[in-house]
Amino acid sequence: MHVQKYRDRYLPAMGLDGIAALPDKAWAPVIVATGAIEQHGPHLPVAVDAFIAEAVITLALERLPQGASCYIAPPITIGKSNEHTGFPGTLMITKRTLRALLLSIARQVHAWGFRNLCVINTHGGNTAVDLYTLREIESKLGLRTQFIAPQVDLGISEQENFFGYHANEAETAWMLALLERHVRPELAVCDYAGRIGDPGELRAERSAANFNWASQDLSKSGIMGNAPAGTKEKGELWLPRVGQAYADAIAKICKEAQARG
Ligand SMILES: [Zn+2]
Repeated sequence: MHVQKYRDRYLPAMGLDGIAALPDKAWAPVIVATGAIEQHGPHLPVAVDAFIAEAVITLALERLPQGASCYIAPPITIGKSNEHTGFPGTLMITKRTLRALLLSIARQVHAWGFRNLCVINTHGGNTAVDLYTLREIESKLGLRTQFIAPQVDLGISEQENFFGYHANEAETAWMLALLERHVRPELAVCDYAGRIGDPGELRAERSAANFNWASQDLSKSGIMGNAPAGTKEKGELWLPRVGQAYADAIAKICKEAQARG
């Protein structure tokens, strides 16, 4: 199998003739990553979400089966991060800016001849905007759109699964495996915004009545999860499974788009 590289699929690295001659624009999706640059506790760099999006796409490309294809648009690296602005290191764009960026990219790739657009999102604060904008793109521009978010069972604890949602075990493990020199594991702490089985119904997440939170309301450290449990070994074990899940999702999208013709 020919292993595909990020830079070979990155549209801005191609010239006019190269883009015009791509043979599979009618069905191969253009992937837009929506990430974030925001506080990730004292132990991780602020670009975690933007960096992980790039890593996930790189891993997925290496695992794409024969007959599948995709192209990569410039990533949107700053996200809608209102909830993290109480900490230094956070940058943010508004929901309007995020929508406008996605729409602008969609409009142009449609004009270039592409008919399929996917978002890979690594920041929860973007999700709602990504979803309503993709519906708008689909209805206004006639592009098929998908939001790729495969569930990968990492075998983490139930507590971490429910209340580890930021700078958590998985993100710490992934970053140690990908970019160890930018991680300071000695500063990692375990901070949970809630406990499974605790009485009470109004919670930050995963309850019948969630309140809308800012990260400083939930965590002094900025961490929400068991960061010290995230090790390099776990990251190296989990990342190929995550990459495979994204490759499978992209392959499925290609297959369905080809079948539609
Ligand atoms: Zn994150």
